Amino acid sequence: MSGSCYTYSQQLMGTTVSLQLFVENQQAVAAVFNTIQALETRLTVNRDHSEVMSINHAAGKQPVAVSKLVFDLIRQAKAASLLPHSCFNFAIGPIVKLWKIGFNGHSIPPAKEIAHRLTLTNPHLIELDQAKYTVYLAKAGMEIDLGAIAKGYIADITRLVLAQYGIYQAIINCGGNVLTIGCSPLTPNQHWHIGLKRPFAKADSLLGILHVQDKSVVTSGIYERYFMLNEQLYHHIIDPFTGYPLDNELQSVTIISDNSLTGDIYSTILYGFGVRQGLNELEKHKDMGAIFVTKDKKIFIKSNQHFQFELLADDYELCQSFIPEQTQ
Ligand code: FAD
Ligand code: MG
Repeated sequence: MSGSCYTYSQQLMGTTVSLQLFVENQQAVAAVFNTIQALETRLTVNRDHSEVMSINHAAGKQPVAVSKLVFDLIRQAKAASLLPHSCFNFAIGPIVKLWKIGFNGHSIPPAKEIAHRLTLTNPHLIELDQAKYTVYLAKAGMEIDLGAIAKGYIADITRLVLAQYGIYQAIINCGGNVLTIGCSPLTPNQHWHIGLKRPFAKADSLLGILHVQDKSVVTSGIYERYFMLNEQLYHHIIDPFTGYPLDNELQSVTIISDNSLTGDIYSTILYGFGVRQGLNELEKHKDMGAIFVTKDKKIFIKSNQHFQFELLADDYELCQSFIPEQTQ
């Protein structure tokens, strides 16, 4: 419970990225932010040029060679998109670009246009050549979107960058993605305390606090990027089977895992599954824990011994265990 704490932040990837260290090391700080900036430049689909955009621009024309780093993320994105019943789909780009949720010009697109664009989101039609590091979108109009997972991938890489400077104790927060590295010098039991935001409230209003050590904490939710129209909320997690925002009982899913890319992939997949199927799925993934927050203010926790949760909001009900349907 001692020592100094140094916090640095920059606006990157449409959010505030912050880094907390417990030694002063300007070189390490510069290396971390330069790395994030460089990866954003390669992975973004919010500018006209990037490695991913060069693939998108060549849709229906030719395969495009990319760097090993970008290929590696795309390979993992394809695998996650092909998991059984996965609502994560890295080919979702044409629909995301149509809705523009979280960006200027958002609107409810015509149903006909959504139906047309759905025909451009088949992940099987994204061909990867492992030998040449090429990616080919087989139909014109197809677009890769790595928005759901690129921050996790980048957070994991920053851990490697810090290790090069001998730093094994830090927190990197990429907005919705928090990676805690090592154990905390700030608390007696050396656990990091990570706040879980209260949905639709001010940034400093918390539902509760997670206690973790050396874990990634990633949240996918409907309360950061959305718009309201006729009292209906339209958020940015799209159901790849309908082309509309995913509609279920959840406000958010938080995944606690060793690496942040895994957390990022599964926060989307388990959001799509909902509470019941999500908790069942976690039986197969003992390397992860999760927190499900529902619209009717229930919190379901599956810790798998990866974290503890301290509830702060007394209007939310903590449901430690889940009663399977057949025994209810
Ligand atoms: P998550 O829940 O993890 O993911 C939601 C995002 O994933 C959606 O925004 C969409 O992009 C995508 N998505 C939606 N449905 C699906 C689906 N079914 N399967 C797979 N993916 C889906 N924001 C800005 O405002 N300006 C920027 O310039 C900008 N640049 C960025 C550059 C990079 C490299 C990255 C990674 C993000 C950037 N962002 C930017 C933010 C980005 O547009 C998304 O809002 C953000 O990545 C969503 O992350 P999340 O953790 O909040 O949501
Ligand atoms: Mg995500």
